[in-house]
Amino acid sequence: MRSPVGDYLQEVLDALADERSGAVADYIPDLANADPDVFGAAVTTVAGRTYAAGDDEVEFSIQSISKPFAYAAALLDRGKETVLAAVGVEPSGEAFNELSLETGSRRPKNPMINVGAIATHDLLVGPGASVADKVERAREFFSALAGRELGIDESVFASELATADRNLSIAHMLRNYGVLQDDPHEVVEGYTRQCSITVTVGDLAVMGATLANGGVQPRTGERLMPPEVARQTLTVMAAAGMYDGVGEWFATVGIPAKSGVAGGLLGALPGQCGIAVVSPRLDAHGNSVRGIKVFQRLSADMGMHLMDSVPYGSTVLRGVHTSGGETVFELQGVIQFSGGEAVLHGLESDTSGTAVVLDLSRVDRMNDVGRRMLLEGLRRMRLDGRAVALIDPDRVLPDPDLGDGTLPEIRG
Ligand code: GLN
Repeated sequence: MRSPVGDYLQEVLDALADERSGAVADYIPDLANADPDVFGAAVTTVAGRTYAAGDDEVEFSIQSISKPFAYAAALLDRGKETVLAAVGVEPSGEAFNELSLETGSRRPKNPMINVGAIATHDLLVGPGASVADKVERAREFFSALAGRELGIDESVFASELATADRNLSIAHMLRNYGVLQDDPHEVVEGYTRQCSITVTVGDLAVMGATLANGGVQPRTGERLMPPEVARQTLTVMAAAGMYDGVGEWFATVGIPAKSGVAGGLLGALPGQCGIAVVSPRLDAHGNSVRGIKVFQRLSADMGMHLMDSVPYGSTVLRGVHTSGGETVFELQGVIQFSGGEAVLHGLESDTSGTAVVLDLSRVDRMNDVGRRMLLEGLRRMRLDGRAVALIDPDRVLPDPDLGDGTLPEIRG
């Protein structure tokens, strides 16, 4: 059988083939030469499987889609405290190239608009690092995320740098307020090179899937950032990735995303997949027109809106049965807060007085909150005078200390 997922993706592109509104970016002269009809899409799951359709082999400059990944690199290189002291996490409701700073702190409002991205680029590697070091740090990190060596489009770079008055004025403003320590020309040169790194939709989909997968590149299995960095990056994408169009984007699509003026659009759906589209005609916010429509359709058809509720908790308690003087709670799936709460409620309701067994054989995983809730439930059951045991053949509940140095009886 051939999986219908790729066919579905192709169908979505076909349905939008006649959509020709918007215009290619021309403030970067080289981008005005882009073929406006290029149209490709790719989805990579957190299991590392990719489905692609249309012009998935076409390379284009990453542009602003570099911003979330450079932010992740800056968090890795400099730590959260230093990065947050330099750049905020508030939605700006502003155009991508606005000259603005937060009142009071005088930080750029977020790392997704140019002012914040230029400050973020400057944080790469460490104080005193050269332009070349910073660019190479970005290129190398993006390559690890994509799982192949990425290059730089020198023509797009030269063309943007030659007309970079707006970004230069942003960098001078940053330096004036002490946000930038380095030479504004050098920082803009580095930032512009970072924006000129070339990718395909397939590359972007894996890069997005790495964020969606908590920082582990799903193809290579390499952890490229800790879960907190992936989460922080997705957060700023959700808050500001679509600039002043972010509210409508989140209402209609509900996926953290980032757009670029070369027509790329990347979304990352936590726990599920990375999604990328390229189509160079842009709307007034600088976001790909067909890209947005593809995402609207995928989100609606495939139930991808993050704010849709999933009944995580109610599925965890698979069954409760009493046999041989024991009450066995059979658990399954993924246990986090609501699942833990459902199990605790089950324990609370059990007044049989028999021994209590939590059977975790069918549990896929649990987060630390789920783990602690189960252990606290067992601890309290034991205080009530009940014998407690765990069946955990795959060791999904590590370190089952009941909080007082004792363990439940472990079986399986
Ligand atoms: N390099 C572009 C710029 O700084 C990136 C903007 C974008 O893609 N929105 O203007």
